[in-house]
Amino acid sequence: MRRAPRGTRDILLQEAARWQFLEKIFREMCFTYNFAEIHTPIFEEAELFTRSVGEESDVVKKEMYIFRDRGDRELALRPEGTAGVTRAYLEHGLHRRAQPVKLYYFGPMFRYDRPQAGRQRQFYQMGIEIFGSGDPATDVEIIKFTSDFFARLGLLDLNLQINSVGCPRCRPFYLEQLRNFVRDKTALLCRDCRQRARVNPLRLLDCKNGDCRAALKDSPQMEAYLCPACREHFTAVLRLLKVLDVPFEVDPFLVRGLDYYTNTAFEFVSASLGTQGSLGGGGRYDQLVESCGGPPVPGVGMAAGVERIALAMEKKNLWPNEDVPSGIFLAVTGSDNEGREEGLALLYQLRAQGLKVEIDYLNRSLKAQMKYAHRHGFRYVIIWGEEERLSKRVKLRDLQAGEQREVSLQELGHLLSEQKGWIK
Ligand code: AMP
Repeated sequence: MRRAPRGTRDILLQEAARWQFLEKIFREMCFTYNFAEIHTPIFEEAELFTRSVGEESDVVKKEMYIFRDRGDRELALRPEGTAGVTRAYLEHGLHRRAQPVKLYYFGPMFRYDRPQAGRQRQFYQMGIEIFGSGDPATDVEIIKFTSDFFARLGLLDLNLQINSVGCPRCRPFYLEQLRNFVRDKTALLCRDCRQRARVNPLRLLDCKNGDCRAALKDSPQMEAYLCPACREHFTAVLRLLKVLDVPFEVDPFLVRGLDYYTNTAFEFVSASLGTQGSLGGGGRYDQLVESCGGPPVPGVGMAAGVERIALAMEKKNLWPNEDVPSGIFLAVTGSDNEGREEGLALLYQLRAQGLKVEIDYLNRSLKAQMKYAHRHGFRYVIIWGEEERLSKRVKLRDLQAGEQREVSLQELGHLLSEQKGWIK
């Protein structure tokens, strides 16, 4: 039997319904926060990611799905959403419109990583971006959105961790200090970190290896090296979070896997999901538009992982009750072909009224149809047999209340259209 490729999963039935629920809440939030949707391609020129996410980042170096197409173009399956959105922002001249421009997306991302619970090679992200404002209130809007979104889902026990990773003016001084600090400790570091110490020292802070963590315990912290502008920005963000009652914890070791972040970096972490506890994160990226070939335009954004949110919802038993009966099963009985044809006509009439209606296609007995309707969570059964056809009166059974009544076809139309709101 064939299986989905390692690190990918099919999402179907109950799980697909749950994803719809997450997507619905996310879209409602985007509506109230005034974000507009954008769809970008699943693959882009590989160079877009190399330039923006960073040549030396793990995401690009080890995890990117990169390939040549038949025209010998070097392409990559997108490992994240922000780079593509930024490319589109420039390509469509959105930077020439009134700013800020606020966009959201929902879709699959691809990273070649070791699969485990909450970590896949194809995974889905919901993300939001604000381009064109450096106001700390926009960082806070992104964070507040994320916090409100998780709260609406019932995920109330997440920790917001936040840090400032500085900017190209102040970060080099800090990196120099960090390099000096680890110079005599390289023997204690893992192989990756030995290389990071040379090419991308900020990522040293992020290594999960226990020995590396111990070696870096007393390392210098970015905060002490922030330039006045970065310090002022970070202080303003934290102050606003307090004003808005969004609890946070400053974590000087928080650096994110994507190199484009400047200043604010944050993550919402669930203690109950172990090492894959980050449900969503983001930050400011004031150099990204420029590194994609545009003018200097500040930006800030966030992406959350759908699989991880679903896992956390499952763990905490937060999914809404899915067993509420809904819809109508139209049980057609009798051997008469004309009766069945009239039954089919009734089916489409009811559907045209916006009702959810199903019919039997396997020639089941009335008893078997009733059983099917029960088992598959229908609220009502309409019985359409020879008797009903002749009298133009149908039996309407409410499976939940266990009641049955006889109504004329005309009355049925009225009754159901009146109840349309609650017969879903
Ligand atoms: P990032 O794009 O690395 O900032 O990640 C943002 C969010 O996407 C994380 O907080 C996770 O929830 C999710 N995520 C990242 N990588 C994976 C993966 N390989 N599998 C599942 N979810 C992921």
